[in-house]
Amino acid sequence: MTTVIEDTLDHGQPLSREIIAPGGRWSHRLETGQRLRIVDLEGQQAVDFLCYSAELPLDRLNVPNTVKLNRSLYVTKGCTIFSDKARKMFSVLEDTCGFHDTLAGCCSIEMDLHRYGVEKKTSCRTNFVNELAKWSLSPSEIVSNINFFMRVTFDAGEVEIAPAVSKAGDYVVLQAEMPVIAMLSNCPQDSNHSSGFRPTPICVEVLPPLGESGLTA
Ligand SMILES: [Zn+2]
Repeated sequence: MTTVIEDTLDHGQPLSREIIAPGGRWSHRLETGQRLRIVDLEGQQAVDFLCYSAELPLDRLNVPNTVKLNRSLYVTKGCTIFSDKARKMFSVLEDTCGFHDTLAGCCSIEMDLHRYGVEKKTSCRTNFVNELAKWSLSPSEIVSNINFFMRVTFDAGEVEIAPAVSKAGDYVVLQAEMPVIAMLSNCPQDSNHSSGFRPTPICVEVLPPLGESGLTA
């Protein structure tokens, strides 16, 4: 696992680096220009992602705006993530995977009971509820999210959660375009392909703006 991270250390010394266990959650405020790197350490691990303006949290990730303004149902390198007010929240600077979902939203205890007849204790939705509380934000602030490293196909209008194509060490780098609260759930789903039926850890780094070096450990 350490090797995978060190192999891709050409992004500058991170301001912070955390390993998020399967089913874990994370949030952090980023200032304009700071970068967020999410590494799928073992491959095929869905990472559910939300973001909010740090100065006006009611202006938040808007997936339909993102889809329309990028003219793409997938988020990948070169895309911009937009808010309700059509403001730029993040630019996708790098992407070694290429498939990131905008359709499927997050898993929930209720949906898993409905879909699989299984009563679970955790989900991305419960993770978001708990993480939002840290920022005094309520569950009503959960909106349709982006799923990094998750592949949802939509051939002929038929939507399916398909086996992910992300390999161990694949990553995305997002550059904050405004002060922003980034939030993610390392999806605990073990009943479909979103996490390869085997949720695994991820690494999350906050990197300084391009051209600036970060703090040394
Ligand atoms: Zn999930």
